Amino acid sequence: MEEKVVIIGSGIAGMSSAIYLKRAGIDPLIMEKEVAGGQLHKANVIENYPGFEKISGPDLAFNIYNQVKKLDVRYLYDEVINITKEDTIIIKTKKEEIKTKYLIIATGRAPRKLNLENEERLIGKGISYCALCDGSLYKNKDVVVIGGGNSAIEDAIYLANICNKVSVIHRRNNLRAEDKLVEQLKEFPNTQIIYDNEVVEYITNEDKLTKVKLKDNREIKADGVFIAIGYEPIANMLKLENDNNYIIVDSKMHTSLPNVYAIGDAIKKDVYQLVTAANEGVIAAVDIIKHEKSNL
Ligand SMILES: Cc1cc2nc3c(=O)[nH]c(=O)nc-3n(C[C@H](O)[C@H](O)[C@H](O)COP(=O)(O)OP(=O)(O)OC[C@H]3O[C@@H](n4cnc5c(N)ncnc54)[C@H](O)[C@@H]3O)c2cc1C
Repeated sequence: MEEKVVIIGSGIAGMSSAIYLKRAGIDPLIMEKEVAGGQLHKANVIENYPGFEKISGPDLAFNIYNQVKKLDVRYLYDEVINITKEDTIIIKTKKEEIKTKYLIIATGRAPRKLNLENEERLIGKGISYCALCDGSLYKNKDVVVIGGGNSAIEDAIYLANICNKVSVIHRRNNLRAEDKLVEQLKEFPNTQIIYDNEVVEYITNEDKLTKVKLKDNREIKADGVFIAIGYEPIANMLKLENDNNYIIVDSKMHTSLPNVYAIGDAIKKDVYQLVTAANEGVIAAVDIIKHEKSNL
């Protein structure tokens, strides 16, 4: 059986598309490799999403997911590993092969890695890319946050409330984060910021992270390392026209291939926010609805 519309990714962008499609009588299939909500699960507090003065990311994810489920949108929890397009679009996971007329790519982006030796092996055993998700595992322990942008400083503030000591390591001599956040961090006596330095090695003892080694050979006690050095879009499986892997779309969210749309953080754009991702989800859905209605 061929699907009419497959949406890959159940972040706010993909779920917004699904709401509009389903309400217009088109039954999309959402494919999701983790949990519905995507990056929302990493956002501690959201204060700029209209309609909610203040809401936690996971709560907003749950609200949107509930709305989608009440519309009876179908989900397939599986990772898409390949997509091909000839007459039709074929999406492959390890177990399934699904054909679809329209495809909406809403795969978002993922945290950038440092790619040091043992990093992969230590994920979940000392290395994390999400303070909000894993911070509580390091209660009263010593942690290191790598990065100097808003995300890194927000992570450090969050961790300072839980951990014994938080060291922020930044490779430049000034932080990119907003001054307000930096001032907030400095109010915590259990934090330090180390400038002009880089982590060059993870030091372990019996498979457990114990310290990090810095470029200047200093070693810092670290039960956990939180890497917050930005994001990269998820691989562009269809080799669509792109800029540094961010998919290029037109104003209707069309990619360089017919019937293939891309939305949200996966695309090349100026603003990577919830409102823009939701907006792009709606534009793609409405374009598909218009095409389908004109074919009736
Ligand atoms: C810490 C943090 C705080 C933030 N705070 C704010 C804020 O306050 N306000 C704001 O407006 N924005 C904020 N943002 C940005 C906002 O969260 C993102 O712009 C938005 O969530 C992007 O949504 P998306 O649907 O495009 O992608 P994502 O949320 O990244 O969702 C993509 C989904 O696709 C799935 N996926 C990826 N590849 C595959 C595959 N191969 N097969 C199946 N599924 C796949 C992923 O598992 C994921 O669920 C924040 C982001 C972070 C990380």
